[in-house]
Amino acid sequence: MTGLYYRGADFLLFILLLKSFILVKLKHSIDLSMARKNNKDKVRVIVLERINVLFKLGIVAVRSRDYSIARRYGELIYRISMRLRVKIPRNIKRWICRNCRVIMVPGLNAKIRTRRDGRTLRIITRCMVCGWIHRYEFVKRGEKYGETPRISR
Ligand SMILES: [Zn+2]
Repeated sequence: MTGLYYRGADFLLFILLLKSFILVKLKHSIDLSMARKNNKDKVRVIVLERINVLFKLGIVAVRSRDYSIARRYGELIYRISMRLRVKIPRNIKRWICRNCRVIMVPGLNAKIRTRRDGRTLRIITRCMVCGWIHRYEFVKRGEKYGETPRISR
């Protein structure tokens, strides 16, 4: 009878130990994923900061008509964003040529034309370095313009 009692106690102890072990393990994995998430956010902040710096330097380079350096900055922005999997913000991506990666500054090495038919607004940007044409289309919904998915070129 006493033997059975002890065996039962052992079993209970075993279960308790297992439970605490699983809990510790679970907590550890949660901590790890949290750390990874925090790290990702930190990386994102730094990447965005650097993309902004490179873009500003690119504009300065275009102003001094140094298109090869402006292209280098554009390439670097693309490489950083691909390597660290951070999207280039739209307001910056619009001003990097898709074909030659040069930073486009309107009035210096880019031309912009807009056309409105009814509810759609088309914006056509042309890179004056390589001649590539970028087209964007927006449709008026209520008061605001929403961008339509990339239209065929
Ligand atoms: Zn171009």
